[in-house]
Amino acid sequence: MSFNSVIGQKEAVEILQDEIKDDRISHAYLFSAKEGSGKSKLAFEFAKASFCEEAEADSCGSCINCRKMDHQNHPDFKVISVLEGKSAISIDQIRELKKEIAYKPYDSDHKIYVMETAEKMTKEAANSLLKTLEEPPSFATIILLVEDSGKLLPTIVSRCQQIKLRNVSKEKIKELLLAEGLEVERAEIVSSTAAGSPGKALEIIKIDDYFEQRQQIYDFLKDINSKNTIEIFQITEKLSSLLKADFPCFNLLSDWYRDIMMIKQDYLDAVTNKDYFEELKELAAELSLQNIIRNLELIAQSEEYIERNIREELSLEVLFFKLRQPDQE
Ligand SMILES: [Zn+2]
Repeated sequence: MSFNSVIGQKEAVEILQDEIKDDRISHAYLFSAKEGSGKSKLAFEFAKASFCEEAEADSCGSCINCRKMDHQNHPDFKVISVLEGKSAISIDQIRELKKEIAYKPYDSDHKIYVMETAEKMTKEAANSLLKTLEEPPSFATIILLVEDSGKLLPTIVSRCQQIKLRNVSKEKIKELLLAEGLEVERAEIVSSTAAGSPGKALEIIKIDDYFEQRQQIYDFLKDINSKNTIEIFQITEKLSSLLKADFPCFNLLSDWYRDIMMIKQDYLDAVTNKDYFEELKELAAELSLQNIIRNLELIAQSEEYIERNIREELSLEVLFFKLRQPDQE
């Protein structure tokens, strides 16, 4: 793998390649892009290219540095992320980083540290990191990966060279999915659902029975107004078990109503679930814009409740009863 394997980020790749070529790699970068856009991949390929002894501003895949990177045992490369079972990057992790980063590189003339979800640093951790960013060791580079740079301390952001990744085009994602062996119609659906994120697209196609489950959920939603209480209990039970298997239920629910909103406002190109276009169009005629927005809010709220450990089934039941009767409160 080399920079070629980074999908749809030509501009960012070119900037980074130039910096390797000109030997002016920064001490701190901030890669921002939404989840699944390939930030980690870009950071990895950048580090690998910078260590490679053979290829110019890319990686050969066979020199000792490339092989160590591929085997995840390059001593001059490290990834820091939220530890399992924790919700934030702690000050202890930053202390550890500061201690380690001060040692000279082993196999190369520089070292690269990547921090995933940098917005999840605690305040203390962020303040501590700031000191390192102000006076980094001459041989060290820190790459912060974030979804939204607005969630970082401005003083951290200003210390970093910012690289914004693009949303990858639907066509590029579709190509990727076709290359993975997906059939055209399904590649079409997933490339829309992935909304610019190749990582998300690849995750979706790994889910067992994704298309069957999606169909059952959407077949329910299109007729939700005629569903009885037992049917609502059945769908909530189903969704509840799907959620336990990390199935993207809430994405599907919100895409459904978002599509209805797009049709209502005549942004037909923005519709994700084109295979349900006729049904969505009918619903767009039935529902008021206010109803649709309310439904989207209900979905977001239900997702938040579940994240906060409020009982899944209860929360989903309430949601579906409310979605069934958009005009009655
Ligand atoms: Zn190499």
